[in-house]
Amino acid sequence: QETGNRKQETGNRKQETGEVRSMIYLDNAATTRTAPEVVEAMLPYFTENYGNPSALYSLGATGKKAVNEARRRIAGVIGAKQEEIYFTSGGTEADNWALKAAAEGSAYKGRHIITTRIEHHAILNTCKYLEKRGFEVTYLDVDAYGRIDLAQLEGAVRPDTILISVMFANNEIGTLEPIGEIGRLARKKGIMFHTDAVQAFGQLPIQVDELGVDLLSASAHKLNGPKGIGMLYVRSGVKMGSFLHGGEQERNRRAGTENVPGIVGFGAAAARAMDKMVQKAAVERELRDYLIGRIEAEIPYCRLNGHREQRLPGNVNFSFSFIEGESLLIMLDMKGICASSGSACASGSLNPSHVLLATGLKQEEAHGSLRMTLSEENTREEMDIVVEELKQAVARLRNMSPLYEDFIKSTQES
Ligand code: PLP
Repeated sequence: QETGNRKQETGNRKQETGEVRSMIYLDNAATTRTAPEVVEAMLPYFTENYGNPSALYSLGATGKKAVNEARRRIAGVIGAKQEEIYFTSGGTEADNWALKAAAEGSAYKGRHIITTRIEHHAILNTCKYLEKRGFEVTYLDVDAYGRIDLAQLEGAVRPDTILISVMFANNEIGTLEPIGEIGRLARKKGIMFHTDAVQAFGQLPIQVDELGVDLLSASAHKLNGPKGIGMLYVRSGVKMGSFLHGGEQERNRRAGTENVPGIVGFGAAAARAMDKMVQKAAVERELRDYLIGRIEAEIPYCRLNGHREQRLPGNVNFSFSFIEGESLLIMLDMKGICASSGSACASGSLNPSHVLLATGLKQEEAHGSLRMTLSEENTREEMDIVVEELKQAVARLRNMSPLYEDFIKSTQES
């Protein structure tokens, strides 16, 4: 019932045949729908409980209590202590803060940082910024599936290495990195370890102590929470300067009046994600593998990007030879299907995805990529529609492609 209502609300599409079908949303790695119960939890903090949490009267105390309850729920997702969670404006701020403050705080020990070639731009561009300020960054390669090589990581460690930052799960191809092994190595060498867990937080089990993680970034809008709110986990005892200077909020580490409704929404989304994690992942995995199986069986000259098993439950990413991902997206959009080529941040630019290039794809193969990221609200019927529309769109685009024509001629000649 709830799913049916959602589909009506999110816009029905009139098909060419005149038949009405609802939109199929397959871009959950870009952002998710804020869950109705999350919105409901947030509303009183706009309208009634609007007090500033720093105020001394009881209206302020209500806000403060709600912020701390959310902090407790969010800490619970990763087995952290409440006081180790610092609210930020999202994943980008958490990544910036983690890298800049860790680098600055440890610069007296060394100026070398290790990360990977496939990080989100929130990490890569922060690294570029740090390089301009005298830090040296090693960018680890990945294999054809997007996994780093632990031996290469160990070989990259130097006496002046102060920070390792490796993402938990890649936002484009869904590959999961060996976080526990990296954490153990970082511990052994006495190096601080940050992971950008924006795509994994609330989706997969994460225990920071077991994994040896010192700093972790997360963002609410990837788990059916609101946009513009995220957090940085900072292990107790880790020395971190503040990123935003001003008031004394967040124990002097992140100034600015707390985004109380956002924080409450993040807390509600975290609790919801914990309740649903196992069932949601199982539904997504089944839909994912069904979609992958049908595409591989029914569309020639395609390649699955990312790791087949070590992969986010809802991630499907393919390259289709001889076509442009952007054209495919537009054709799918006309059929009411929302997907993405590469990451949302990179779309709009004509540069091929740095992630796909790092996995060894050629420029033209990287250009022909399509990411579809599922949620537990998707259905098998939707997957069937997507496969049919995709088959038609790929065939149509290939028919217009001189490269495809040449290729077909060459196969006929040989
Ligand atoms: N890191 C990763 C892996 C992401 O996927 C994203 C968002 O796409 C971010 C960081 C940035 O998060 P936010 O949109 O909350 O700033």
